[in-house]
Amino acid sequence: MIETRTGAAVETWADARLAGRVWSLHVLGTGAADAVDLGASSAVLECDGKPILMIDCGPDALEHYLHAYGALPPAVYITHGHMDHVAGLERLFHAAWFDPARRGGVKLFAHANLIPILQARVADYPGAVAEGGANFWEGFRLIAVSRGFWLGDGWFDVFATRHHVPGTSFGIALRGCFAWTGDTRPIPEALAAVADERMLIAHDCSLVGNPSHTGVEDIEREYPAQLHAQLLLYHYGSAADAQAMRGRGFKVAVPDGRYPLCAPSPVRAEAG
Ligand SMILES: [Zn+2]
Ligand SMILES: [Zn+2]
Repeated sequence: MIETRTGAAVETWADARLAGRVWSLHVLGTGAADAVDLGASSAVLECDGKPILMIDCGPDALEHYLHAYGALPPAVYITHGHMDHVAGLERLFHAAWFDPARRGGVKLFAHANLIPILQARVADYPGAVAEGGANFWEGFRLIAVSRGFWLGDGWFDVFATRHHVPGTSFGIALRGCFAWTGDTRPIPEALAAVADERMLIAHDCSLVGNPSHTGVEDIEREYPAQLHAQLLLYHYGSAADAQAMRGRGFKVAVPDGRYPLCAPSPVRAEAG
């Protein structure tokens, strides 16, 4: 429990640890944009096996999600506008729009910088549905964020990553629990601000880096050795690349893999 400014005690997610709840990160897909067999990189934060937040919605991510959970996600966070992370939003729109119980009910979190990008990429098509009467964003509850956002009683930090044009790609972290970098070059300064020694840090990485993505040598050079054990690498080019990275001592996510997490830390008063 924490005390609010009015003195009222509210239950936080941190209390779930006391109730013995199980937190995990379900990685739906682990592939780079051209690694179709591995699925588009996407993940779901779970508590006791129940989905809390889906991260990214690439071409096949919603199908993977529906196969796993049998219903639309309650909330989705979008890291950036590349199609391997947003191409499933049209499919999600249709599923939400034509289900009166879910229309406008799926929370869609995105950094404010991404709104014009998403508008151009997925929303600005004449006639969201053939029958008319539908505006694309009415299918969701679009929530623009900057430093982070509340979901339930948890505060999720949002942080800028290094991927193509500055200010167009943003990772997410739940203190004490996990961080998901989204696509990025190494960002030790950003992770130092949002991560602690307990968190699982899911990080963009393939065997060889490039100007937009991290390679395993970048990881070895840019991050302190004690952080390596916290890393879970994803967004790689092939199963062979994954095996080679394991051979260098790193944990590498597999499609449909579930990874245990520590319970979120108590929410800090300055959050929000
Ligand atoms: Zn990507
Ligand atoms: Zn990208």
